[in-house]
Amino acid sequence: MTVSAPDGPLTTRILLLGGTDQARRLAAALTEGAGHEVLYSLAGRVREPRVPPSCRVRVGGFGGPDGLAALLRAERIDTLIDATHPFAARMSASAATAAAATGRPLLVLRRPGWRERPGDRWLRVPSLAAAVDLLDRFVPDRSVPDRSGAESVAGADAPRVFLTTGRGELALFARLDRPWFLIRCVEPPDPALPPRRVVLLDRGPFDIDAERALLRQHAIDVVVTKDSGGSMTAAKLTAARELGLPVVMVDRPPLPAGVHVVDSVEAALHWLADRPTGRGQPRRAPTAPGTDAG
Ligand code: NAP
Repeated sequence: MTVSAPDGPLTTRILLLGGTDQARRLAAALTEGAGHEVLYSLAGRVREPRVPPSCRVRVGGFGGPDGLAALLRAERIDTLIDATHPFAARMSASAATAAAATGRPLLVLRRPGWRERPGDRWLRVPSLAAAVDLLDRFVPDRSVPDRSGAESVAGADAPRVFLTTGRGELALFARLDRPWFLIRCVEPPDPALPPRRVVLLDRGPFDIDAERALLRQHAIDVVVTKDSGGSMTAAKLTAARELGLPVVMVDRPPLPAGVHVVDSVEAALHWLADRPTGRGQPRRAPTAPGTDAG
C-alpha cells in the first residue's frame, strides 16, 4: 500500500529485515531522509542490539515464510527489504518465498564480499564444515616472521587458531581437540566448544593495530572467518596479511534465485525512488548518511 503523507510526499510502508550496519543506515535514510514508515526486524541474537532510533522495531522469527507473509499482510507492508547478514540464508530464503506469495516487491541489500589482495594467503572453503575439516589437518608454518614463539605455547603441529565466525555454529568445531582456539564473538557462546580454547567477548569495529597486537599476543597461526564483507571487521585481514598468516575464508551461501540485489545503501535508496508511486512518478532518492561502512 502506498499512502499520501499530509504534506505531500508519498510514503511507503517497508519491512526491513535488519541486523547489519547497512540495515541501520538504510533505515535512518528511509525514515529521516525520505519520510517512509519502516518496521525494523531483528532475529534477536544480540542482547543489546543497535537499532535505528526512528523506526518501529520488532524482534524474533516470523515462524517461516507463512508467518512472514501473514505479517506482510497484517501490517499492510508495501515493500520488503532484506538487509540481513550475508550468512542469514534461511531468512533470505523465507523473505523471497513470502514476497512471491504476497506479491510484494523484494530488494536484497548485501554488502560486497571481501577481495583478496597481494600478500594475502587465503584458503577459500565452501562452508563452515569444510573449515573444520581443513583445521583438522592444518599444520602451521612457523617459519614466517613473528612465529618463533608459537611452538613453545602450542606444540610443533598444533595450530593456534583465531576463530571469528560468530557464535552460531561453534559446535561444529567442538570435535577438534588438537588446535588451540581464540574464539571471538559478541555474545557468550553455547557450551559445545572445542576443548582447548579461550573465549573473547568483543564487538567491532576493530582497528588494525589492536588486531595485529591480538594475533601476536596469542601467537596465532591461522585466522578463520566468514566472508562477511564490510569494514567493521576487516582489520583482522590486514593484520593477518602483514604478519604473513593464512586466513581460512568461508564462502557466502547463495542468494535465492531471481531476487534483485544491490550492494550499497545509496543503490537501495535509488531502487526505491525509481519504483512507481502509483501516480506515475518516481520518488526522488534521498542522500545516504555516511559511507558504506559495512
Ligand atoms: P538464519 O539462519 O537465516 O535465520 C534463522 C531464523 O531466524 C530465520 O528463519 C528467522 O526465523 C529468524 N531471523 C533471522 N533474521 C531475522 C530478522 N532480521 N528478523 C526476524 N527474524 C529473523 O540467520 P541467523 O540465525 O540470524 O544467522 C545465520 C548466520 O548469520 C550466522 O552464521 C550468524 O553468525 C550470522 N549473523 C547473523 C546476524 C543477525 O543479526 N541475524 C548478525 C551477524 C551474523 P523464522 O523462520 O521463524 O522467521
